[in-house]
Amino acid sequence: MKPIISLLSFLMLISASFAQNVPSPESYLGYKIGTRYTRHHKIVEYFNAVAKARPDMVKLEQYGLTNEGRELLLAFVGTPENIQKLESIRLNNLRLAGIAKDKDKAAPVINGAPGIVWLSYNVHGNEPSSSEAALLMIHALTDPANTQTKEWLKNTIVVIDPCINPDGRDRYVNWFNSMVGNNMNVHPMAREHAEPWPGGRSNHYNFDLNRDWAWQTQVETQQRIKKYNAWLPQVHVDFHEQGYNSPYYFAPAAQPFHEVITTWQRDFQELIGRNNASYFDKNGWLFFTKESFDLLYPAYGDSYPIYNGAIGMTYEQGGHSRGGLGVVTADGDTLTLVDRATHHFTTGLSTVETSSRNHEKLMSEFKKYFDDGRSGKVGEYKTYVLTASDPHKLNPVIELLEKNGIQWGTVSNKNFRGFNYFTGKDENFTDEGFNIAVSAYQPKAVMAKVLLEPKTIVNDSNTYDITTWSLPYAYGVKGYAVKEKLDLGNDWKQPVVNKVNSSYGLLIPYTSFNSAKLLAELLKQHIKVRFAEKPFRYKNKNYDRGTLIVLKTGNGTVNWNDITNGACMKFGVQADVVETGFMDQGADFGSSDIKNISEAPKVALLTGDQASSLGAGEVWHYFERMLDYPITLINGSDLGRMNLKDFNVIIAPDGYFRSLGEKSGADRLKDFVRGGGKIIAMEGSVSAMAAEFGLKTKSDKEEEKGDYVDVKKYGERDRSYLPNAIPGAIFKVDLDNTHPLGFGYPDFYYTLKQDGNLYEFMKGGWNVGVLKKEAYVTGVAGTKVKNRLKDGMLFGVQNMGSGSVVFLAENPLFRNFWENGKLLMANAVFLVGQ
Ligand SMILES: [Zn+2]
Repeated sequence: MKPIISLLSFLMLISASFAQNVPSPESYLGYKIGTRYTRHHKIVEYFNAVAKARPDMVKLEQYGLTNEGRELLLAFVGTPENIQKLESIRLNNLRLAGIAKDKDKAAPVINGAPGIVWLSYNVHGNEPSSSEAALLMIHALTDPANTQTKEWLKNTIVVIDPCINPDGRDRYVNWFNSMVGNNMNVHPMAREHAEPWPGGRSNHYNFDLNRDWAWQTQVETQQRIKKYNAWLPQVHVDFHEQGYNSPYYFAPAAQPFHEVITTWQRDFQELIGRNNASYFDKNGWLFFTKESFDLLYPAYGDSYPIYNGAIGMTYEQGGHSRGGLGVVTADGDTLTLVDRATHHFTTGLSTVETSSRNHEKLMSEFKKYFDDGRSGKVGEYKTYVLTASDPHKLNPVIELLEKNGIQWGTVSNKNFRGFNYFTGKDENFTDEGFNIAVSAYQPKAVMAKVLLEPKTIVNDSNTYDITTWSLPYAYGVKGYAVKEKLDLGNDWKQPVVNKVNSSYGLLIPYTSFNSAKLLAELLKQHIKVRFAEKPFRYKNKNYDRGTLIVLKTGNGTVNWNDITNGACMKFGVQADVVETGFMDQGADFGSSDIKNISEAPKVALLTGDQASSLGAGEVWHYFERMLDYPITLINGSDLGRMNLKDFNVIIAPDGYFRSLGEKSGADRLKDFVRGGGKIIAMEGSVSAMAAEFGLKTKSDKEEEKGDYVDVKKYGERDRSYLPNAIPGAIFKVDLDNTHPLGFGYPDFYYTLKQDGNLYEFMKGGWNVGVLKKEAYVTGVAGTKVKNRLKDGMLFGVQNMGSGSVVFLAENPLFRNFWENGKLLMANAVFLVGQ
């Protein structure tokens, strides 16, 4: 006879056996947490061990891989009852937000629905104590002896991402482990406290993942935000570290707050903060709140959750890469990794506690947040309409909206007025050919407003990051913000590209970054490409400057027609057939106005400790992941020993390259340029080269002196720098689009200006991008700096011998989200100086 075990007693049996078996981090890893650094694969191993010991309480999910192949993990922790119905909890949560897909659209249940608390650790790889705290956290939640956490889990699911940035973490941890001796050295000057370039803060491509949430340019973010938006937690904590002399920071956050942040979100931050404080007070640990860490820029791990209905928060422990395993602080105390991990562990638990205790209000306010969005209560503008003649200008916007779960459509009734972002005036809509529209009546209304509003209201100018990112400027697409609710349909059609056969040549329009990617592809495939420096007319069609021309002439040895058609298909650009070199108007193909890119440029990028790691990373990522074009990374300090003839283009990213400013180095570069080479200098490198290459920085006009201007109030010293502050504001650049650097653009370009640097107009060079008198558009810029930023050069080209130098004094690749700058960079690489 078979033994019959009831389901209930079976479950009791297995949960009793689980109870024996949850290993502590210390017993599993063999050391007390905080006494050494845990490498990422050991974190993964421990999470797997816990999930194996308590499959009834933990669902572990690998949600992706990093650039270097490390696992990205989410652990969903809850009571066995909740873990069993995890998927229905997720769907119900999306229904509360009004976001569930049609097939899942049952009525949402609010009573008994658990809250979701999402804890993200170690986004900055060299702020490593938080992943150690994540080990303590999952143990505390699953350890059968911990009855307190079991109480909280009755109404709460805790989602743990133990390490958002594994590549950065291991870069730091592997380096530290190789530096530390038998015992840690707490002297702040010991080498184990001085991490080398580029540091572990960023990911593989030197990107700051805590500036990437909204834009999702990086693989870690792309994979994570998919999961995040499939859940939409009620509470999110992003764990960080700051300088080791600073006490702990937790919510409530500092000003400026974006105006869309609700009273409830502010109030709950206060509840969380007070509960955290009670634990810190008990232990005598110092902390601060309401300072430094504001809530404005939408790509942070606190503000992004805030704009998506959650209570989003940043917690900052003192430590950072300078913390090592222990360091003597300015107070003379020794701060250890054990302390740092304990503090992060404490605030994590306290946050789960506060969320659980206020569960009902948390859930009802979450629902209300999205109900308000759907009923159009968010913002003054009710519809945002973007229009372009080239659909490839709108496709990146569509992609961004979809990545953020923002619904979009198109307008068919085009008879309306709105605020025209480009002219700054209310005007009748004029359709450029293609349009997309976003309604403010939708669950993600807040996120839509934050990304699309023409001006972000900043209620305190003292901020941590850029203050404007409005999509029409960043994407270079004409837009209207409309106060009425417009009916949206969806007749968006991707253009159909047809293969065309020619025995003579093909013409390819050059009107978006897609055309530049296409050009890169052709050059990689050894196709010789020409381009027109002046407009021309063929068979009753006008072709603009920059039009790419692929001829059989010069390409006769390869299957040029098929290769070119293949590239056009790949990038969705329609080529036209041309059967003769004789044009109806404009230059014929043998004219000197038709330039020939005779070979694919070989490009080098200067990196190393004289480069800004972020600036170098942006160029690296741009070439590898956006343009898909080879680039050689070179240590800047090797420039003197390098055979420059191996390359056609040298890119000096933002940085402080000493050799660029010294005569011997500059002379060598000038020889390289005179011999036909090209240098593209960006931001700091432009300043470094300025003196040797004859650029003059614009300086302040004589300041008006009044009585007592030097008598300043001590109590207002935090604000005394404000007249010179420019944390990132948008300026309109007048662009000479008859110069190859400006091809594919209208005669203007919006730039994000992040410093007060501007140059006098060049006398012997081409001032391609200039700021004229009324260049300021939106964002925070101090009065003095605003005054300085006029009548000067921002983008310029200096021809020397048979080569050229391209000066990009502002960054067209900012965080790789400033979409409209990508074509400018491609122009600098491929078109300038041909
Ligand atoms: Zn950080």
